[in-house]
Amino acid sequence: MVTMSTTPAPIPAEQLTQMWAAARAAQTRAYAPYSRYAVGAAILDEQGEVHAGCNVENAAYPQGWCAEASALAALVMSGSRRARAVLVLGGDGGATGGDWITPCGGCRQKLREFCDPEVPIQSATADALGPVYTLEQLLPHSFGPGHLKTP
Ligand SMILES: [Zn+2]
Repeated sequence: MVTMSTTPAPIPAEQLTQMWAAARAAQTRAYAPYSRYAVGAAILDEQGEVHAGCNVENAAYPQGWCAEASALAALVMSGSRRARAVLVLGGDGGATGGDWITPCGGCRQKLREFCDPEVPIQSATADALGPVYTLEQLLPHSFGPGHLKTP
């Protein structure tokens, strides 16, 4: 059953602050010598732990990966399998003609593996919090684990 979530549930303030700080710290570690577009991501798991990651570029461009992928790897390495909230940090939120950052298409699908449709995805810069979406809003009618028979 697909639920159409139109209003994301707010991320509790204490956890949002923790996620924002973790994403800010991760962004400073980004390896982005080619695009110079540093991104940090933070994912809150079902135990209340925050896992962060940064983008990692490569001279062979397609071999680089996104901050969300790094954060998901950290979540899985911790033993967790479910995300309750996601924060992505980058860009300038419109301050100099850029826009609020949201996960790329590939990352939306990666997040789908570990997120329920109503999981909030918060956009942010280092200086401000931006719009928040549900995964369902960013990746409607998605393909996920429920489509496959699991052993
Ligand atoms: Zn991505």
